[in-house]
Amino acid sequence: MESPELSFTLAYVALSVCFVFTPNEFRSAGLTVQNLFQSWLGSEDVGFIQYHVRRTSVTLLVHSALPLGYYLGMSLAAPEKELLSVLQVDGVWRAFLLLSLCLHLSSWMLVLYWSLSSWSNHPISRALRAHVRPALPGWGAVATSINTEFRRIDKFATGPPAARVIVTDGWVLKVSTYHIHLALQSECHVTVTQSRQHQFSPDLASPTEILTLRVESINPSVGGFSISVNSSEYADLRDKLRAPIRNSANVVIHQTMSELFLETFRAQIDLNPPYRVPGGQEMESCIGCMQTPANTKLLRLCTAADSEDSECEQCFCRPMWCLSCLGRWFASRQDQQRPETWLSSRVPCPTCRAKFCVLDICPVR
Ligand SMILES: [Zn+2]
Ligand SMILES: [Zn+2]
Ligand SMILES: [Zn+2]
Repeated sequence: MESPELSFTLAYVALSVCFVFTPNEFRSAGLTVQNLFQSWLGSEDVGFIQYHVRRTSVTLLVHSALPLGYYLGMSLAAPEKELLSVLQVDGVWRAFLLLSLCLHLSSWMLVLYWSLSSWSNHPISRALRAHVRPALPGWGAVATSINTEFRRIDKFATGPPAARVIVTDGWVLKVSTYHIHLALQSECHVTVTQSRQHQFSPDLASPTEILTLRVESINPSVGGFSISVNSSEYADLRDKLRAPIRNSANVVIHQTMSELFLETFRAQIDLNPPYRVPGGQEMESCIGCMQTPANTKLLRLCTAADSEDSECEQCFCRPMWCLSCLGRWFASRQDQQRPETWLSSRVPCPTCRAKFCVLDICPVR
């Protein structure tokens, strides 16, 4: 493949992937289906369900047109191929064109089928129909109930547009690219199934823990689905959910920045060389918590003892603190707005005020 074609192909693939999965940069530039078709989609606050029925349909049509766009773009990028004179074009390109056309046309047919009798065939309408009951006769009534509750300002909402989680007084909703999953709060149980921790790292501004929760409904016609929330939002979610949250896998949930930091801190200290107590003497209990034996010793290890270019100082205190207390002390002396600087900063020893960094903390063995 010659270079203009190759560069066009690479650029198109990259743009398409970004358009479909919309990273933050694309979203802030307004290159999303929601933004481009804003005037037709209307307002999410006025009619939440109607908005998403339209949004998912448009998204399907736009995404299915991407291969066709590639073909048209290539006909401009490589005019010598004469891709626009469809009858003369060679076999591979003709097959590609046919497949792209089929894909796009079938999406149109699917969307037309969905739209019959005021969108009653759309997957969202079908999901609504599963919740029809005497109190909510007809899927229109279910849609109205969700629309009304979505307008209230005290709803819980979080997550990126492709996996948004919304909890209203009566409903748990997950908005994804092509669908909305819904469950009635009074009918569902929620289980924490997993927690993923993203440690302190240079490219991540703050440590995060993402919890995965499984929402299952006792209504057999409503399928279960998983939602993801940040552990710092877990308390708000729990307040809004009236269903009890079970913790099946005994997942430990760290709700504050300091708790999250402690995990990273502990892992970092484990890498440092251990300090052997002379004569194998018993350790006194930590003077911070009086619960566990002191198990940390500060030694200036980050730079050679005679070098002058480090701000760290030698601490001559005996081991007095346990790792958790020292970690909490370390976190409490940091700029709470800039957690990315925490691991690389220096704090004074809690007893003698000699400055130390994480490399200077030795586990006592
Ligand atoms: Zn302690
Ligand atoms: Zn000290
Ligand atoms: Zn140091």
